[in-house]
Amino acid sequence: MQYIILDLEWNTAFDRVHKEFVNEIIEFGAVKLDEDLREVSTFSSFVRPVIEKKLTSRVRKLTHITNEDVQSAERYLPVTNRFSEWIGDDPETVVMSWGDMDIRALISNNGFAFRDVTIPYIHQYVDLQGCFMKQKGLPKAHQVGLSTAAEMIDIDPDTYALHRALGDSLLASDCFRAIYDDVDLEDYIVDVDEDFYQQMLFKPYIIKELTDTGVDKSMLDCSCIICGQPAAKLSDWRFSGSSFHAIYKCAPCNQKYRVNVQFKRQYNQVVSKKTVLKIKDKKKKKA
Ligand SMILES: [Zn+2]
Repeated sequence: MQYIILDLEWNTAFDRVHKEFVNEIIEFGAVKLDEDLREVSTFSSFVRPVIEKKLTSRVRKLTHITNEDVQSAERYLPVTNRFSEWIGDDPETVVMSWGDMDIRALISNNGFAFRDVTIPYIHQYVDLQGCFMKQKGLPKAHQVGLSTAAEMIDIDPDTYALHRALGDSLLASDCFRAIYDDVDLEDYIVDVDEDFYQQMLFKPYIIKELTDTGVDKSMLDCSCIICGQPAAKLSDWRFSGSSFHAIYKCAPCNQKYRVNVQFKRQYNQVVSKKTVLKIKDKKKKKA
């Protein structure tokens, strides 16, 4: 049994062939812990970017990584090979990262470099951020950054080389050690299998057809805000922007409503949003 706590730095790059933005990896950092959570070794390497050779100023300012640092480094393939060798072949290796962005970056960089998104050296994975937040009872919607999390458990993040791959992975591994006794890790380990990749590759999208199975028809009703009775639909539903729109009217209250409903399909659920706005009477046409 061993744990690999991984952190990556990346540069925002535009892939002109596939016409999409890629988080192009420019640095690997990782800590290897044995089953008693003792540090066995660390891994640190820059990666020479090929999609976008120059780092954005945002990345240079945040990480203090220079163009010279990455231009003198090896490319993604040899670094990946060294990293994979460093991890070794212990079948009970659990790879962890703070949030799944690093895994998503590996998937997209593998897709770009090898036309194969799978990560051959990761078989079991834990999202440490998700694990931490659940253990602290924090709501999913409000994601806690690594430094904030560290402060919550009395680890001083400023003593680490933050926003650098190795510094962040060392900090994440100390956070992992700090919560380890209070966590049943088995509950958080996921198999990196076909399902996992499908989930990671799934791109949430806005539903544009009311016939879609993800549309909750009850969201398409409208009750009058004033009297609470069902209002009557005056127009057909039409889709524009990112939501469906229709006009409703409550005859007894003589009040019209504009109803907007949005359905967003995520990997394992559809998230719906609805707004009902009163339509003000246009008092007079101008004289
Ligand atoms: Zn009414």
